[in-house]
Amino acid sequence: MTDQPCPLCVQEDVVLRNALAYVRRDNFALSRGHVLVIPVRHVADFFDMTSAEKHAVIALLDEAKAQIDKEHAPSGYNIGVNIGKAGGQSRMHVHVYLIPRYHGDVADPRGGIRCVLSRETHK
Ligand SMILES: [Zn+2]
Repeated sequence: MTDQPCPLCVQEDVVLRNALAYVRRDNFALSRGHVLVIPVRHVADFFDMTSAEKHAVIALLDEAKAQIDKEHAPSGYNIGVNIGKAGGQSRMHVHVYLIPRYHGDVADPRGGIRCVLSRETHK
């Protein structure tokens, strides 16, 4: 589809990996310990990943969460995936956000990820 090298195909800042996916720190971190879980294969849509890729991503979410617990001891987490431009996706290679949350990091955390339609984003 494109000749341009995809930045998420390039495995940089890798903190964890398995055969089909890897974890990197996000250059635009929203909170302490925020990481991205990314399939190795270039695939844009979360739902187009193979079952094995989805399992690999979930396994790394577990491993990354355990590591973040040790390093940062957050109070909670959000897991999120933007799918399609209408869903806010700008990098067209699946990336699952694992965002540690801390008491007091926003004034009113109720609703968590449900609030994407009602709140201004961070940019
Ligand atoms: Zn890619």
